[in-house]
Amino acid sequence: MESNIKLITDDGLRLDGRALNEMRPIKIQTGVVEKADGSAYIEWGANKIIAAVYVREAYPKHAQNIDRAIVKARYNMSGYSVEERKRPGPDRRTMEISKVITEALESTIVLEKLPRAEVDVFIQVLEADAGTRIASLTTASVAVADAGVPMRDLVVGCTAGKADGKMVLDLSKDEDNFGEADIPMAILPRTKKIVLLQLDGKVSQEEFDEATSMMMNAIPRISEIQRNALMSKYNVEEGE
Ligand code: UDP
Repeated sequence: MESNIKLITDDGLRLDGRALNEMRPIKIQTGVVEKADGSAYIEWGANKIIAAVYVREAYPKHAQNIDRAIVKARYNMSGYSVEERKRPGPDRRTMEISKVITEALESTIVLEKLPRAEVDVFIQVLEADAGTRIASLTTASVAVADAGVPMRDLVVGCTAGKADGKMVLDLSKDEDNFGEADIPMAILPRTKKIVLLQLDGKVSQEEFDEATSMMMNAIPRISEIQRNALMSKYNVEEGE
């Protein structure tokens, strides 16, 4: 949606005071749902999201894959997580986000290590403030690791986009609403394989390249926050 709202101030900063390539603060905590096999909670800017993972034998039996696991991620937004109350229950957006998160997790879980199993990932958005799909995926991937599910790598998500003609990292709600483009992306950092890439809006090839390079630069920092969250459960400092 385009409008006349000015998203970049005269001093080149964004409305929340961030530089163009600056992320919002991120905090992740594991082991927050006692009865789940694995769980993680993320605060990414004003987003607050919880992910709980349950690993069990797939049921009914005919739904099982004899040689690999089934992954089902369900993204859900609480009614009052947004300014204008969201009607409860699944809608097209929720189904789309659940699908892209499921596919991204499938690409990193070593499915053949868990024949006949189902990995259920419940994601609840408690407060939403733009970028919930990639914050959900980032925390869901930590929750899956916390559950002890074999993975090739932790998925790391990020967004970049265009606001007032400039490329910006980690879109705010205003930039998401009133900017020219929103590009959520998630990768497996070890191999740099892209496991989620969407584009809402219009950008040139050069702008797209600038957005992806901004995100690639941010990914190691997000990875570190994920790893620290997992290691702090065992009171292990990184590098030990
Ligand atoms: N949003 C909202 N109501 C809705 C869906 C979304 O207010 O029913 C807000 C919410 O803050 C969300 C943002 O719009 O984070 C951007 O939504 P989008 O579909 O782009 O997904 P996201 O950026 O959260 O991955």
